[in-house]
Parts: sequence; structure tokens; C-alpha cells
Amino acid sequence: MLPITDILNKSYLTKQDIITLLQVEGEDKTLLFKKSREITDQHIGNKVYLRGLIEYSNVCIKDCFYCGIRKSNRKQDRYTIADDQVLQAAKYAFENKYGSIVIQAGERTDQVFISKITHLIKEIKKLSDGKLGITLSLGEQTLETYKEWFNAGAHRYLLRIETSNKELYQKIHPNDDLHNFENRITSLLNIRKAGFQLGTGVMIGLPMQTIENLADDLLFLREIKIDMVGMGPFIEHKDTPLFEMNHLLNTRQERLGLTFKMISILRIMMKDINIAATTALQAIDTMGREKAIKYGANILMPNVTPGLYRNSYKLYEDKPCTDENPVDCNTCIDVRMGMIGSTVGYNEWGDSKYFLKNTSKILN
Ligand code: SAH
Ligand code: SF4
Repeated sequence: MLPITDILNKSYLTKQDIITLLQVEGEDKTLLFKKSREITDQHIGNKVYLRGLIEYSNVCIKDCFYCGIRKSNRKQDRYTIADDQVLQAAKYAFENKYGSIVIQAGERTDQVFISKITHLIKEIKKLSDGKLGITLSLGEQTLETYKEWFNAGAHRYLLRIETSNKELYQKIHPNDDLHNFENRITSLLNIRKAGFQLGTGVMIGLPMQTIENLADDLLFLREIKIDMVGMGPFIEHKDTPLFEMNHLLNTRQERLGLTFKMISILRIMMKDINIAATTALQAIDTMGREKAIKYGANILMPNVTPGLYRNSYKLYEDKPCTDENPVDCNTCIDVRMGMIGSTVGYNEWGDSKYFLKNTSKILN
């Protein structure tokens, strides 16, 4: 096996290199994080871009075994935020110079929902004079729907593959047409075809997931030339079927540690993509997102959902900031970023540099 410094200086990591890096500890781990920070500084700089997160609705037609807002969780009250409150949240983000928002929700594919999203995108563009960037995270849709939303003014889309291993994917989803692995891949390709900057990602520390699976996940992200990534630790939710597998889980700290390694290795592999420091990190460690930024992430998604609804968007347990309002989160961003030597790219879209310079995309 090569010494860590040799692996870190390679221009192209192999699967074996990645497996080795995912298992480093002690001094070697420090070297890994140092390298990913250096690469971030070189290719991205120390700027962190903001996406105000609007958790638009927890109504979902799907039944993913891990998710607290899955259709069959009868214990969960359902909400969809009224238009004027969505627009108010977007306005808040705009006025506070966030540059962009993300609209995320449970999956719906009915015409009423599709048209509603189109309407909201157009209204948000209008209220910000076209200036607010819009990312969507609204699940699997048809190519036509993706195109409609892109043409309305959204320009980035996040759809996690969750795991790139088909067998594991099938174990954590029901076995039906709505939760089909191949369809998920097709959706990713359609998102790109529609014109969006494409984001995907995986959950880290799922029951039954191996280090090899995680290495394959990173290879998958490189292979499909992803523009942006959101990866986070899996966090159990007691009202979901996957909770039965809880005895197979690593500790939360271990899942967090693995997530940091995944972020730093990905930064070494894909030097100028956007990598988000996801909310789930903060659920395990109050400084989780800051640490992720130190190790290579460059996107922060402060929650701008009206406080009233946050408690009901529980994908997993112990979700942070659920009792706060946007203002509470806003005051701490500069301080928190300053603590780790980062600055905030206010009023900027902060698009993926990789996307902007990459013209040879896979478009099949
Ligand atoms: N319905 C959309 C967007 C909302 S879910 C979709 O599924 O794409 C957004 C993400 O939350 C999912 O992609 C999944 O990776 C993550 N998530 C769901 N349940 C989770 C859990 N228990 N722990 C960690 N992340 C979870
Ligand atoms: Fe619905 Fe997304 Fe949760 Fe799956 S992960 S149940 S699609 S909200």
C-alpha cells in the first residue's frame, strides 16, 4: 500500500486509494483534511455561498424506508406552505443577500403541484428582479416537468442517488415503480438534459452499507460528472421501517467522521464542484457544518422556512433549528464562518465552477 502522502498527491484516485483514505485515522487523517483544504483554497477560495432553504411541503407520494415524512407515516401531520409565505421567505433570503434559495419538498407529480411550482418560480424571479438564484429539490419528475421548471427560471436541481449500489438501494426502498433505481438514474440525466446544473449525493452510514459501497459512490459522482453534491450522515427516525435495522448502525459520531472523509476525498477528486455542508451534519454536531467547510465544502443552506412548519419537516430525528425563525439563524452565519476563516459570498449565485467551465457533458 502506498503511503498516504503519495496517494494524496496522485492526480487520479483509484477505488483502492479511496478505500484506503476512507479508513485513515490519526496523523494520516489530519493530512487528508489538510490536503482537501489546500485544494479548496486553490480552486474555490475561502468563500462560502448561501442557499436559503425553503421546506415547502412534507406531503410525499413515496415511501422511502428511511425518511420520516414518507407517505405511510401516519404520525406525521402534513403541510404545504401558502404562496404568500413562500414568497415572503424568498424575499427574506433576497433582502438578506443570500443570493440563492432552494425549494425542497416531498415528492408530488400531479399537475396542480407542477403548475404551482412553476408559478412560484416565476413569482420569486419577479420579486427579486431576476436576481435570486433558484435550486429545486423536488424529486423525480418527467423531462417535460424539468424543462418547464427550468424555463420558468430555476437553474440548479438536487436529486440524491442516495446510494449508487443497486442492491442497497433496493433494500432501503419499496420494490415498485415509484422507487426504481434505473428510473432514478434516468431522472438525473433528464435533469441535466433540461439544462440544470446537476446535484446529487448519498447518505453515509446507512445500515448494510460498506466502505466499498462508499468508495463506489464517490466513483459514481466522478463518473457522471456531477456539478454539485449534498452528502450527509444517515440519521435514524423511529417511525420508519429502517429503524428495525438500528442494531446494524455505526455510532452517530462514526457516521459523522465518515461524512467528513467523504467530503474531503471528493474535494480532492473533483476540485471545483460545489459541495454542500448539509443540515444533517449539524444534527450530530453543533459545529458539524463548519467542520465540513473546513474539510472542503463551500455551500451552506440556512433554513428560511417559517418556524411554524419546521417541526413538521422531520426527515430524521434531532433536526437542528426546528424551533427557530430565519432571523435567529441569520445572525450567526457571519460569526460561524468567521470562526473557521471563511467569508460569505453575499448576493452571489456561487454557481459550480466545474459546470461553468465544463462543456463536454454526458448528454445521453
Ligand atoms: N423528496 C425529495 C427531497 C426531500 S428529501 C427527494 O427525496 O429527493 C431530501 C433528502 O433527505 C433525501 O434525498 C435523503 O437523502 C435525505 N434524507 C431522508 N431521510 C433521511 C434520514 N433519515 N437521514 C439522513 N438523510 C435523510
Ligand atoms: Fe419522500 Fe424524499 Fe422522504 Fe423519499 S426521501 S419519502 S421522496 S421526502
